[in-house]
Amino acid sequence: MNKVLDDILSYREMCDAENQQTMQRGMNFRMNPAYSVILMSQRFNAPYSDRVHGDGITIEYEGHDVSKRKLELNHNPKTEDQPEKLPSGRLTQNGHFIKAVKDYKKSKNKPELIKVYEKILPGTWSLKGYFDLIDYKVAHDGKRNVFRFFLKLSDREENSKINTKTHEHNRLIPSVVKREVWKRDQGKCVLCGDSKNLHFDHDLPFSRGGTSLSANNVRLLCMTHNLKKSDKIE
Ligand SMILES: [Zn+2]
Repeated sequence: MNKVLDDILSYREMCDAENQQTMQRGMNFRMNPAYSVILMSQRFNAPYSDRVHGDGITIEYEGHDVSKRKLELNHNPKTEDQPEKLPSGRLTQNGHFIKAVKDYKKSKNKPELIKVYEKILPGTWSLKGYFDLIDYKVAHDGKRNVFRFFLKLSDREENSKINTKTHEHNRLIPSVVKREVWKRDQGKCVLCGDSKNLHFDHDLPFSRGGTSLSANNVRLLCMTHNLKKSDKIE
Protein backbone atom coordinates (compact mmCIF):
# COMPACT_ATOMS: atom_id res chain seq x y z
CA MET A 1 0.00 0.00 0.00
CA ASN A 2 1.31 3.42 -0.87
CA LYS A 3 1.86 5.74 2.02
CA VAL A 4 0.64 9.27 1.47
CA LEU A 5 1.26 12.57 3.19
CA ASP A 6 -0.26 12.89 6.65
CA ASP A 7 -1.01 9.18 6.98
CA ILE A 8 -0.89 7.94 10.54
CA LEU A 9 1.37 5.00 11.31
CA SER A 10 2.30 2.93 14.30
CA TYR A 11 6.00 2.74 15.13
CA ARG A 12 6.08 -0.81 13.67
CA GLU A 13 4.42 0.27 10.42
CA MET A 14 6.94 3.07 10.09
CA CYS A 15 9.88 0.68 10.60
CA ASP A 16 8.37 -1.79 8.14
CA ALA A 17 7.93 0.96 5.55
CA GLU A 18 11.67 1.63 5.81
CA ASN A 19 12.70 -2.04 6.09
CA GLN A 20 14.24 -1.46 9.51
CA GLN A 21 14.10 -3.52 12.69
CA THR A 22 14.20 -0.37 14.79
CA MET A 23 14.59 3.33 14.18
CA GLN A 24 16.29 5.11 17.03
CA ARG A 25 18.06 8.10 15.55
CA GLY A 26 16.56 11.39 14.46
CA MET A 27 18.85 11.75 11.45
CA ASN A 28 19.47 8.85 9.11
CA PHE A 29 21.59 9.75 6.11
CA ARG A 30 20.76 7.48 3.16
CA MET A 31 18.78 5.00 5.18
CA ASN A 32 17.51 4.11 1.73
CA PRO A 33 19.71 4.34 -1.39
CA ALA A 34 17.32 6.93 -2.83
CA TYR A 35 16.70 9.13 0.22
CA SER A 36 17.52 9.97 3.82
CA VAL A 37 15.10 9.83 6.74
CA ILE A 38 14.47 12.31 9.53
CA LEU A 39 12.33 11.58 12.56
CA MET A 40 10.90 14.72 14.09
CA SER A 41 10.02 14.34 17.70
CA GLN A 42 8.99 17.58 19.30
CA ARG A 43 9.73 18.04 22.92
CA PHE A 44 6.76 19.41 24.79
CA ASN A 45 8.86 22.08 26.48
CA ALA A 46 10.39 23.27 23.21
CA PRO A 47 7.59 23.34 20.66
CA TYR A 48 9.46 25.57 18.21
CA SER A 49 12.82 23.86 18.02
CA ASP A 50 11.66 22.01 14.91
CA ARG A 51 9.23 24.29 13.22
CA VAL A 52 7.22 24.93 10.11
CA HIS A 53 7.94 28.32 8.51
CA GLY A 54 5.30 30.86 7.55
CA ASP A 55 5.38 29.75 3.91
CA GLY A 56 3.83 26.45 5.03
CA ILE A 57 6.28 24.33 3.06
CA THR A 58 9.64 24.83 4.79
CA ILE A 59 10.70 23.16 8.00
CA GLU A 60 13.67 23.87 10.17
CA TYR A 61 15.24 20.87 11.88
CA GLU A 62 17.84 20.98 14.62
CA GLY A 63 20.89 18.72 14.30
CA HIS A 64 21.87 16.10 16.83
CA ASP A 65 23.97 16.49 19.97
CA VAL A 66 27.25 14.81 20.82
CA SER A 67 26.58 11.29 22.01
CA LYS A 68 26.55 10.60 25.72
CA ARG A 69 29.80 9.27 27.08
CA LYS A 70 28.99 6.73 29.73
CA LEU A 71 32.11 7.15 31.81
CA GLU A 72 31.77 10.89 32.32
CA LEU A 73 29.11 11.58 34.91
CA ASN A 74 29.11 15.36 34.52
CA HIS A 75 29.07 15.25 30.75
CA ASN A 76 26.03 17.11 29.42
CA PRO A 77 25.47 16.96 25.63
CA LYS A 78 23.09 19.94 25.84
CA THR A 79 25.96 22.26 26.75
CA GLU A 80 28.35 21.16 24.00
CA ASP A 81 28.49 22.35 20.40
CA GLN A 82 26.78 19.93 18.05
CA PRO A 83 29.48 17.94 16.25
CA GLU A 84 30.14 17.79 12.53
CA LYS A 85 32.77 15.09 12.99
CA LEU A 86 33.57 12.31 15.43
CA PRO A 87 36.90 12.38 17.31
CA SER A 88 38.09 9.85 14.71
CA GLY A 89 37.47 12.42 11.95
CA ARG A 90 34.56 10.53 10.44
CA LEU A 91 31.44 12.53 9.66
CA THR A 92 28.56 12.47 12.11
CA GLN A 93 24.99 12.49 10.78
CA ASN A 94 25.20 16.31 11.04
CA GLY A 95 28.35 16.12 8.94
CA HIS A 96 26.73 14.00 6.23
CA PHE A 97 23.77 16.36 5.96
CA ILE A 98 26.10 19.41 5.84
CA LYS A 99 28.17 17.80 3.10
CA ALA A 100 24.98 17.14 1.11
CA VAL A 101 24.05 20.84 1.38
CA LYS A 102 27.53 21.91 0.26
CA ASP A 103 27.51 19.51 -2.69
CA TYR A 104 24.09 20.79 -3.69
CA LYS A 105 25.23 24.43 -3.49
CA LYS A 106 28.27 23.64 -5.63
CA SER A 107 25.72 22.17 -8.06
CA LYS A 108 27.40 18.82 -7.85
CA ASN A 109 24.21 17.12 -6.81
CA LYS A 110 20.48 17.57 -6.65
CA PRO A 111 19.35 18.45 -3.12
CA GLU A 112 19.29 15.44 -0.84
CA LEU A 113 15.80 13.97 -0.73
CA ILE A 114 14.62 13.58 2.86
CA LYS A 115 11.62 11.61 3.99
CA VAL A 116 10.30 13.13 7.22
CA TYR A 117 8.21 11.35 9.82
CA GLU A 118 6.92 13.13 12.89
CA LYS A 119 5.93 11.77 16.25
CA ILE A 120 2.41 12.75 17.22
CA LEU A 121 2.32 10.83 20.50
CA PRO A 122 4.41 7.91 21.78
CA GLY A 123 3.88 5.06 19.29
CA THR A 124 1.92 7.25 16.87
CA TRP A 125 3.72 8.68 13.85
CA SER A 126 2.77 10.60 10.77
CA LEU A 127 4.49 10.88 7.41
CA LYS A 128 5.13 14.58 6.95
CA GLY A 129 6.32 14.11 3.39
CA TYR A 130 9.36 14.29 1.12
CA PHE A 131 11.64 17.30 1.36
CA ASP A 132 14.66 18.79 -0.38
CA LEU A 133 17.54 19.57 1.96
CA ILE A 134 18.40 23.06 0.73
CA ASP A 135 20.45 24.79 3.42
CA TYR A 136 21.84 24.79 6.92
CA LYS A 137 23.23 27.29 9.35
CA VAL A 138 25.06 27.34 12.64
CA ALA A 139 23.02 29.05 15.35
CA HIS A 140 23.83 29.87 18.96
CA ASP A 141 21.11 28.67 21.30
CA GLY A 142 22.34 30.65 24.29
CA LYS A 143 24.71 27.96 25.51
CA ARG A 144 26.36 26.42 22.50
CA ASN A 145 26.36 26.16 18.72
CA VAL A 146 23.72 24.01 17.05
CA PHE A 147 23.04 23.17 13.42
CA ARG A 148 19.76 24.10 11.85
CA PHE A 149 18.78 22.37 8.63
CA PHE A 150 16.28 23.82 6.16
CA LEU A 151 14.02 21.43 4.30
CA LYS A 152 11.55 22.46 1.65
CA LEU A 153 8.62 20.31 0.58
CA SER A 154 9.83 18.52 -2.54
CA ASP A 155 8.08 18.20 -5.84
CA ARG A 156 10.12 15.08 -6.46
CA GLU A 157 8.43 11.96 -5.30
CA GLU A 158 9.96 8.62 -4.62
CA ASN A 159 8.66 6.75 -7.69
CA SER A 160 5.38 8.63 -7.48
CA LYS A 161 4.58 6.94 -4.20
CA ILE A 162 2.82 10.06 -3.01
CA ASN A 163 -0.70 10.03 -4.28
CA THR A 164 -1.15 13.05 -6.57
CA LYS A 165 -4.40 13.83 -4.82
CA THR A 166 -2.35 14.94 -1.86
CA HIS A 167 -1.18 18.00 -3.78
CA GLU A 168 -4.40 19.43 -2.48
CA HIS A 169 -2.70 19.21 0.89
CA ASN A 170 0.59 20.73 -0.08
CA ARG A 171 0.80 22.82 3.02
CA LEU A 172 2.21 21.29 6.14
CA ILE A 173 0.16 20.71 9.22
CA PRO A 174 2.35 21.58 12.22
CA SER A 175 2.94 18.75 14.68
CA VAL A 176 1.30 20.67 17.53
CA VAL A 177 -1.89 20.95 15.48
CA LYS A 178 -1.77 17.22 14.65
CA ARG A 179 -1.34 16.35 18.30
CA GLU A 180 -4.33 18.53 19.23
CA VAL A 181 -6.49 16.99 16.48
CA TRP A 182 -5.48 13.45 17.45
CA LYS A 183 -6.54 14.06 21.06
CA ARG A 184 -9.76 15.87 20.12
CA ASP A 185 -10.85 13.16 17.66
CA GLN A 186 -9.67 10.44 20.09
CA GLY A 187 -7.65 8.59 17.46
CA LYS A 188 -10.74 7.73 15.37
CA CYS A 189 -12.32 8.68 12.05
CA VAL A 190 -14.79 11.48 12.84
CA LEU A 191 -17.32 10.02 10.40
CA CYS A 192 -17.37 6.30 11.25
CA GLY A 193 -15.22 5.80 14.35
CA ASP A 194 -12.73 3.50 12.62
CA SER A 195 -9.31 3.57 14.25
CA LYS A 196 -7.35 1.98 11.39
CA ASN A 197 -5.66 3.57 8.32
CA LEU A 198 -6.21 7.08 9.56
CA HIS A 199 -5.16 10.29 7.90
CA PHE A 200 -5.06 13.96 8.87
CA ASP A 201 -7.52 15.71 6.61
CA HIS A 202 -7.88 19.40 5.78
CA ASP A 203 -11.59 19.92 6.26
CA LEU A 204 -11.52 22.81 3.80
CA PRO A 205 -8.75 22.30 1.22
CA PHE A 206 -5.89 24.75 1.31
CA SER A 207 -6.63 25.74 -2.30
CA ARG A 208 -10.04 27.00 -1.15
CA GLY A 209 -8.67 29.09 1.65
CA GLY A 210 -8.50 26.46 4.39
CA THR A 211 -5.61 26.77 6.79
CA SER A 212 -3.62 23.92 8.26
CA LEU A 213 -2.46 26.07 11.14
CA SER A 214 -5.62 25.63 13.19
CA ALA A 215 -7.00 22.39 14.60
CA ASN A 216 -10.48 23.68 13.67
CA ASN A 217 -9.75 22.97 10.03
CA VAL A 218 -8.09 19.57 10.40
CA ARG A 219 -9.76 16.28 11.31
CA LEU A 220 -9.10 12.54 11.37
CA LEU A 221 -10.55 10.48 8.55
CA CYS A 222 -10.18 6.79 7.76
CA MET A 223 -8.96 5.82 4.30
CA THR A 224 -12.46 5.06 3.00
CA HIS A 225 -13.83 8.44 3.97
CA ASN A 226 -10.69 10.21 2.84
CA LEU A 227 -10.98 8.67 -0.63
CA LYS A 228 -14.69 9.43 -0.86
CA LYS A 229 -13.91 13.03 -0.11
CA SER A 230 -11.12 13.21 -2.70
CA ASP A 231 -13.50 11.89 -5.35
CA LYS A 232 -16.01 14.58 -4.54
CA ILE A 233 -13.42 17.35 -4.85
CA GLU A 234 -12.40 16.20 -8.28
ZN1 LIG B 1 -14.42 6.66 8.32
